[in-house]
Amino acid sequence: MAISVFDIFRVGIGPSSSHTAGPMRAAGIFVRALERRGLLGRTAGVRVEFMGSLGATGRGHSTDTAFVLGLLGVAPETADVDRLPDLLREVKERGEMLLAGKKLIPFVWDRDIRFSPEKVAKFHTNALDAVASDAEGHEIFRRRFYSVGGGFVVQGSEADPEVPEVPASFGNVVLPYRYRHMVDLIAYSGRDGLKIPEIVRANERVWRTDEEIDAALDGIWRVMKENMDRGFRREGALPGAYRVERRAAAMKRRLESGPGSADPLAVLDWACAFAFAVGEENAAGGRVVSAPTYGSAGVVPAVIEYYRRFVPGASPKGIRDFLLTAGAIGILYKTNASISGAEVGCQGEVGVACSMAAAGLAAVMGGNAYQIENAAEIGIEHHLGLTCDPVAGQVQIPCIERNAVAATQSIVAARLSLGGTGRHYISLDEAIETMKETGRDMCNKYKETSTGGLAVCVVEC
Ligand code: SF4
Repeated sequence: MAISVFDIFRVGIGPSSSHTAGPMRAAGIFVRALERRGLLGRTAGVRVEFMGSLGATGRGHSTDTAFVLGLLGVAPETADVDRLPDLLREVKERGEMLLAGKKLIPFVWDRDIRFSPEKVAKFHTNALDAVASDAEGHEIFRRRFYSVGGGFVVQGSEADPEVPEVPASFGNVVLPYRYRHMVDLIAYSGRDGLKIPEIVRANERVWRTDEEIDAALDGIWRVMKENMDRGFRREGALPGAYRVERRAAAMKRRLESGPGSADPLAVLDWACAFAFAVGEENAAGGRVVSAPTYGSAGVVPAVIEYYRRFVPGASPKGIRDFLLTAGAIGILYKTNASISGAEVGCQGEVGVACSMAAAGLAAVMGGNAYQIENAAEIGIEHHLGLTCDPVAGQVQIPCIERNAVAATQSIVAARLSLGGTGRHYISLDEAIETMKETGRDMCNKYKETSTGGLAVCVVEC
């Protein structure tokens, strides 16, 4: 299966790639299937059941609102995010919706959306069943979807929803540099004298011209930066029971004018502030780029902004190379382990983000293939075993602060690798395998169910 770096970096609406972007994409696929099969006109009702982790933390992660937006035909790349709360309020108040923007159907929020955490599908815990019915209430179409992390969606087959369907397009693409492990990338680099981002770019040319690759990478960075800037402009409380106060704007003010500006470690405070700005916007349902997920979306942009602001010689080409390298590392995790907190805990989200950002930074600071590997390995190694335990099921505590800490760890990891020769004892491939095994052994209550860890230590007020 050939994965592009643009499958790792996807634009969508926060706060969670698996619990928001995936279900929103699933809803879009569902309504397009209704149209394609000529069933949209007959459809008089749609209902959805969120199972497993989607059922457990779906309310806090806004899974229901994301799915409804997908049914309405909202496109995450272009949607006016300020208008979305009004759209959702109208559906709730009127008890009806314009399916795919075309067909008016009744839709009663509490009747047509069901959360069933006790039902856990065999293939993946993030499962949902979408069902369309006609005016007599007869079922006319049903599909199972699995949201497998990073906004990726896999459909259950029509014959047996427990069996995942592999899209026919997967596997048809032949990449010039087929790689499954970091050792493959290192071997190509040595054989052909190419840098890691050059190898990744050569693969991307299967789908796009160089101009299109550059435009797409610049577009990804633009959304990341706009999201960060927006996070710095907004203050007040985030949505949710705890009314968590945004901190990014105050952090920026303090750094620009307060005593912090003379502090030699202020650069780390800046990296934290960049991550907070993105994390807070994500938590508020803003437009965000998965890197590799939305919950962990603050790390890569924070480290790119650190590079852009504080590393001498930083350039737009450097940002593109950063994204290509970080994307390749994300592909390794996606291919060989998981980037889903519901599957392997937060090591698969913030841990992977730290590894991606460390590799990206090492690459643009002149690291060779071994040093890039070393940086990525350090980035994940110290996140192994990290659990996913969002308080109240919301991507706020501990997620936002965790992104900030991981951003600083990425910088440290890159610097540690660049300070050495690239020789190290544990390979990235071994660390990825270890992450997968650790995730497999992790108790379910620590995998995005909000039934363990910090999530049960804090009493909801
Ligand atoms: S704890 Fe980590 S994996 Fe879990 S929701 Fe937060 S960022 Fe995502």
